[in-house]
Amino acid sequence: MTIHHIRCPRSSTALSRLRIGGIDTDLCEDCGGLWLDRLELARFQHPESVFGDALVAHLNQFPPTLIDHSIRLTCPRHPDMVLLRRKFSPAVPIEIDECPECGGIWLDSDELAQIRR
Ligand SMILES: [Zn+2]
Ligand SMILES: [Zn+2]
Repeated sequence: MTIHHIRCPRSSTALSRLRIGGIDTDLCEDCGGLWLDRLELARFQHPESVFGDALVAHLNQFPPTLIDHSIRLTCPRHPDMVLLRRKFSPAVPIEIDECPECGGIWLDSDELAQIRR
């Protein structure tokens, strides 16, 4: 068992690890946010992905919180790196937070569901 130390960039809660589709995801049971390391999103983003369905269902258990998008977040893995807020893609105008250092991304509560629409 690995002891897990990374914390939620919004609520500073220790993230819970959930292994799904062979990937260890890190999620916040406080605010329903999700941390994915570089390239991990590919496993979940397609609307047909059963792993994506399972992950969204899991995240939906946590009550949505009010999120202030004007607050700049820092990377759970690189506490001195500020995450860059950017549009996910031209086709999917959801804004996500990405670490310029490690390429990991932070998705707030319903952002994964919106990306998969
Ligand atoms: Zn949180
Ligand atoms: Zn990082």
